[in-house]
Formats: sequence, structure tokens, C-alpha cells
Amino acid sequence: MKILVINAGSSSLKYQLMDSENGDVIAKGLCERIGIGGSKLTYKPTGKDKHEFEKDMKDHNDAIKMVIDALMDKEIGVVKDMGEIDAVGHRVVHGGEKFAKSVRITDEVIETIESLNSLAPLHNPANLMGIRACQKLMPGVPMVAVFDTAFHQTMPKQAYMYGVPYEAYTDLMVRRYGFHGTSHLYVSGRAVEKLAEAGVPAEASRVITCHLGNGSSIAAVKGGKCVDTSMGLTPLEGVPMGTRCGSMDPAIVTYLMDKLGLDAKGIDAYMNKKSGMLGLSGVSSDFRDLGEAAEKGNERAEIALQCFSYAVKKYIGAYAAAMNGVDAIVFTAGVGENDRATRARILEGLDYLGVDVDFAYNDSCPRGEEVELTKKGSKVKVYVIPTDEEMVIAKDTARLAK
Ligand code: ADP
Repeated sequence: MKILVINAGSSSLKYQLMDSENGDVIAKGLCERIGIGGSKLTYKPTGKDKHEFEKDMKDHNDAIKMVIDALMDKEIGVVKDMGEIDAVGHRVVHGGEKFAKSVRITDEVIETIESLNSLAPLHNPANLMGIRACQKLMPGVPMVAVFDTAFHQTMPKQAYMYGVPYEAYTDLMVRRYGFHGTSHLYVSGRAVEKLAEAGVPAEASRVITCHLGNGSSIAAVKGGKCVDTSMGLTPLEGVPMGTRCGSMDPAIVTYLMDKLGLDAKGIDAYMNKKSGMLGLSGVSSDFRDLGEAAEKGNERAEIALQCFSYAVKKYIGAYAAAMNGVDAIVFTAGVGENDRATRARILEGLDYLGVDVDFAYNDSCPRGEEVELTKKGSKVKVYVIPTDEEMVIAKDTARLAK
């Protein structure tokens, strides 16, 4: 089936047309600066030249219209008409406790997603704009919502409850939800398959997945089910990230509001946009820039990188404790797949767990493919597994659209 995968943000929209059977990407691209002037569509059919179209997109309807026009274009298009697109899969960030798996989109589903807007005020309304635009422009085409939070819904209460009055949970939905679920699902699934080949039965497998990118989260996956994860009510919790602070003493929030004269919006921006690697280093949120700066002797960049690796290492220790051991540790996403130095820092000193890393191979292994970083006989395996969230969305969409 040909599935259009849509990841709609407030002013941007990523899309991929995929063949859900073999996972091939037929065409993909990006709409940028929707509704803020200077909009641009990028369109790249696989194996052919990339095209850029600068045309104003006042809203998501305009954006989807341009995407469809490009896909169906006589010269550069990849489908003859809309009938060739079998279904649309939408990435939705927050499914709260309402969605533990992907669902066919109905009016009721849209209402439920809307009711969760306060949990993800930047993301869910944007995801809904993408859904509504597709419904309008592609009537009759089945649509599916795939949630970032769904995979984590198997966490036990002891992992998702916070130590605040119980009414915060019952009345205000305050609990750990976790994010990057499609990525953790995909890479943990691949690791479970590899472990089975190595003689570890799937039901008994204990995997720690490290999705390390601009945003980073770690998950503990036991018998294929998520039992804990580092992100919480929002994607702000966990390790320090590109621009997000990650976990810290919650009293810092009120202290800084008081000292810096910040209101709720102000402290939110401070913690989400100005903190993390960027705030610590004063250099950049990008790990490549940080690596370069640290190499040239920039102390703050070095400290930022150390804080990050140390935080990831602590989660690995915590999740090994939570699962009574670990069989595989997986690295994925921009940093996890590419940043050898950060991987090495995280993996140093994990021999107490039975991790025997081939550090020379970590430095020389190919990028963009699945590799094992541990030596033969290592009790715990370490894998790098490139994530494929679009593939998970396309597969789920095809299954539910049939
Ligand atoms: P997002 O959360 O935006 O999807 P990605 O998973 O694409 O993020 O990860 C982006 C991060 O990956 C950036 O910080 C970038 O520096 C880092 N990254 C990408 N390639 C490399 C590389 N070769 N070396 C180090 N870091 C890299």
C-alpha cells in the first residue's frame, strides 16, 4: 500500500510517501515557514533530483495542497491521482492515557486528541491542523493517528506516578507519559530479534533503548514492553538535551522565577529553549559543534558533553536495576547513531554490568546501518540501530486502513 506519512508542526510539515510492504520511500520532503511568510516546499522523489518551491502557504491546507500537487505533478510526480494514495498516517505527539496504540481517525478520535491539547500545547494543535487539512483535501482516504506516547502506556504505576497529591493525577492528568514511542518501539523490537538469534527468549529480554538526538529519551523495555522511560508529563524531563534542561531539583523553577522575574511562560521558554547543551556550553545545541569546540579547549562545551553522557549512563544503571539486569543497550537517533565520542563516554565503565565494548570498532564502524559494538562473548550486547519512525507509522497505518 502507498501510505502518506505526515508529521505536522506548528509552522512546518514533514511528509513521506512510502510503500508499506517493502518500506521503500517513494518521495519525501518538508514544508517550512507555514503561516509566517517566506514559505518553502522541498520535494524529493527517491533517486531523482530535489525540487524547491517558494510559494506562500498561509496555513496547513495550503501546505498539504502543495504536497499533493507535487506528488501528482505530470513531470516530477510519483502518483497519477489521489486514488493511488491508500491512506495517510499522522504522527500525533500526545495520546495521554486515551491511546495505547494507533487508531483510525474519526470525529471522536479528533475530539479526544483535542481534549489533550493542554498536555502538549505546542504539538497536538499542530498535529490536528495537519489531520484536518488532509481530511479536507483527501476526502474518503483513510487516516490513522500514531502516538508518540502509546508505546509507553504499558509502564506500571510505580514508574509513572509522581510524588505529588494523587488528585494531580486523577483530576489534572499529571503522570509520566514518555515520548519518542515509535522510535523506542522500533529499535527495541529490532534488538529483541537480534537477542533471540543470540539465544535470549523474547519474553525474557531486557533492553535499554537510548534515543539520543536533539531531544533525548531512554526507555527500559522488558519482554518487549516498556516498563519505564525518562521523559515525563512533557518531553522536558530526563537527560539534558539540545536546548531543554532535563531533570533538575523542581525548586529551581520557583527560585529562578523569583530571581529572574519570570512568569510561567518565561520559565517555560527558559527551560525548553535556552537550557540543556546550549545553555550549559553557550556554544550550540548541536553535538557536532560541541565536539569541535571541546576539542579546541572550550571548557563549557566539554562540561556540557560530560553532563549529557553522565546523565545517560545513570539512566542505564537505573534501568538495569529496574529490570534486574540488561541484555542489550541500543543507541539510536542523530547523536546515538553518529556521535562516536559521546557513545564511548556513555559506555566507559559499564563493565560491572557485563558490557565488553569494542571501542576501536565504535570508532570505525559504518554509519547508517545496524551494528554491534560489543566483543564476542560480551554478556550484554550494545547495538547501534538506525531508527525508522516513518516506517512504524506507515506499517500501523496500512494495517488499520485495510
Ligand atoms: P531530532 O530530535 O531533531 O529528530 P536528530 O535525531 O536528528 O534530532 O539529532 C540531531 C542531533 O544529532 C544534533 O545535535 C546533531 O548534532 C547530532 N548529529 C548528527 N550527526 C552527527 C555527527 N556526525 N556527529 C555528532 N552528532 C551528530
